[in-house]
Amino acid sequence: MCGPDRDWLPASVQPTPGPHREGARAFPRRALLDRHGRRTRSIQPNHQKPEALARRSRRGRHRRNRRAARRGAARGAVPRPAQRHDQRHPGPTTEEEPVSQLPIRNEAAPIGAFVRQHLPQILAYCQANPEEFANLQDREYCLTNFRQSYAVLRARTGESKPSKCWAAKSSGPFSDAGYWVTSEWVSNLHTAHFIVYLISKGIEPIGVSEDFIAWAQETVDEFGTTSAAPGGARYRSTALGVAQNALVRYLLSNLPYETFAQDDWEAVKARDFGGTCAYCGETKKTTIDHAVPINRIHLGEHRLGNLVPACGSCNGRKSNTTYTEFLETFYAADPEQARMRIGDLDTHAAKHDYQPIEDHEGVRPIIEEARAKLAEVASLYLDRINEQLAQQRGC
Ligand SMILES: [Zn+2]
Repeated sequence: MCGPDRDWLPASVQPTPGPHREGARAFPRRALLDRHGRRTRSIQPNHQKPEALARRSRRGRHRRNRRAARRGAARGAVPRPAQRHDQRHPGPTTEEEPVSQLPIRNEAAPIGAFVRQHLPQILAYCQANPEEFANLQDREYCLTNFRQSYAVLRARTGESKPSKCWAAKSSGPFSDAGYWVTSEWVSNLHTAHFIVYLISKGIEPIGVSEDFIAWAQETVDEFGTTSAAPGGARYRSTALGVAQNALVRYLLSNLPYETFAQDDWEAVKARDFGGTCAYCGETKKTTIDHAVPINRIHLGEHRLGNLVPACGSCNGRKSNTTYTEFLETFYAADPEQARMRIGDLDTHAAKHDYQPIEDHEGVRPIIEEARAKLAEVASLYLDRINEQLAQQRGC
């Protein structure tokens, strides 16, 4: 017998007799079962001395770590840098993480919060393209597009939350739409793929710089897989959606034949908005925002009447929503203020002869056709180049 008397333990957890192992636990861990009979966690038998239990507690562990650090400092050891939140947990992927050290500041950290921030826009995209609901429930699609081992969405069938998903509150608008959203966002590869996914869907990533977007694109190009190549999925290929969205932006930025220079924009800022942010009204450094976003969903245009000055904070929070959607949320507690600001922006648009396209029945199908045609063009030219190469290689 290698420890004290164990007769007090119930028969179900009596240790099985066997050869004594060096360093083996003197006491077996006791399984705790929840009301469904599932194993939840293990505890030490509670007859241990209180100090021993305290040592096992989280605070105790931190105290031990600090003591160890002090001892290390006394020896002149270099302290280990604290782990950042986004670097913890190796995550569910079994592959080795190739980009654990970012060359630039991780502007999308923590990734879970970053994902949650974009759920309203992703939902809007899914509602406009219902096949995306099915895609996001497809594991293969999610692995390809997000490097995510779990399906991004799971249909809500009951009230109990499946594992690896966020609770209803964190699943946000998807919860109301009848879905759970996976919580398994952990690695920098997820971050890079998520950003590239947003862009491929015409959604502007919130609060990240052009440099960070470029990092995401490069990372996906280097380590990722995208499914959009005409021939099917291919490691390291660039998504066709990126080109399609660029085409949509090009079209919407050149309708109709309006021209204006920087001076015109400066005049709009000073005269129409008095040098303030069009949304919060504060006098801050502003950048150009499109009141109606330029993408295939909202069909905003790059015209003076759709350009408004926005401070960094409002610009980031508004993201890919329209000015009415954003202002109604922003001034949820003060609807009168929301109406007034929306009215000001309507006046600004009318003054510059800008009428949003919205649900123009003639335009939307043309935009979709342009995207489809671009896919055809891409496929055609791939075939032609492949033909040339086949001849050259004598295949
Ligand atoms: Zn603002």
